[in-house]
Amino acid sequence: MELEKFNLPGVEDKRPLVIAGPCSAETEDQVMATAKELAKNGTKVFRAGIWKPRTKPGGFEGNGVKALPWMQQVKKETGMLTATEVATAKHVEEALKYGVDVLWIGARTTADPFAVQEIADTLKGTDVPVLIKNPVNPDLELWIGALQRLNNAGIKRLGAIHRGFSTYDKKLYRNLPQWHIPIELHRRIPELPIICDPSHIAGRRDLIASLCQQAMDLQFQGLIIESHNDPDNAWSDASQQVTPEVLSLILNNLVIRDTNQSTESLTELRRQIDEIDMSLLETLSKRMRICREIGTYKKEHDMTVLQTNRYDEILNKRAQQGEELSMDGEFMKVVFEAIHSESVRQQMKIMEGK
Ligand code: PEP
Ligand code: MN
Repeated sequence: MELEKFNLPGVEDKRPLVIAGPCSAETEDQVMATAKELAKNGTKVFRAGIWKPRTKPGGFEGNGVKALPWMQQVKKETGMLTATEVATAKHVEEALKYGVDVLWIGARTTADPFAVQEIADTLKGTDVPVLIKNPVNPDLELWIGALQRLNNAGIKRLGAIHRGFSTYDKKLYRNLPQWHIPIELHRRIPELPIICDPSHIAGRRDLIASLCQQAMDLQFQGLIIESHNDPDNAWSDASQQVTPEVLSLILNNLVIRDTNQSTESLTELRRQIDEIDMSLLETLSKRMRICREIGTYKKEHDMTVLQTNRYDEILNKRAQQGEELSMDGEFMKVVFEAIHSESVRQQMKIMEGK
């Protein structure tokens, strides 16, 4: 890929590059109030969604063109650069007409090569910096394909945004980080800056700080964080937005480590442990979901919750399998007794019709 450094005028070239602002541009007052606070705290690039891809109709789908003059106003009054999401040729044309400085392609759009190609064709001949979010599905090739489409259209200031990947199962995060995917992207295209979007990964504001730190420890180039002057009353993604004040706290508490740090360092190993623990939790939650399905089946067929033979079989087999993987059989039994007791508790709730 033929890339140039992701330089933005007036923005210092250092980690992390921070892009912050509300999920959506709701009203002129909300945009200006949020932007002024962010600028006061040192933000240099302001984000706001003008066109919002919502999962279901009826949600707030953005103000569209009407909100673009507000972005111009932000630029004029605060000096910040502005960034917004584009999903169609029309969005690109309108955004450029109003001088939006940085464009990004959203996760749903990246998953659609027709849409990405349409955007790429419209951008031909410009040199706007573009950030491409990972597709909603964990498909690295599709992500790289989108980057290539833009690069083939002559866009050289390109970056990637890691915003996590959707899953069906209920989980801690709104979108699973699956850190190995952006890490592999970095291995494949080392000169491509990768920015983390902890807001859309977390879906909850209390998880944002630790995700920012993880992204920094993984040597991400920047962060794009949703920040709103009144997050609880936001028209979209209310639970994951933080006030500009909280954003400042989060950023000030970040520890930015030397990127030359050895990968064998304790930090890296601990990060791997955190990631493995998260996937253990997710696997456990998936197992519980299936147990609840079995519970429903047992209820419909008048079977008892506890099926002793099956329980014995699981305990013995897992002890043996664990030993084959260099773990103590007794330890495996303790683990599976605990898991089984939680499954029984969840099935009992189904039996009782709760
Ligand atoms: C957003 O940034 O507000 C957004 C819609 O994100 P994503 O495309 O990651 O869902
Ligand atoms: Mn959002």
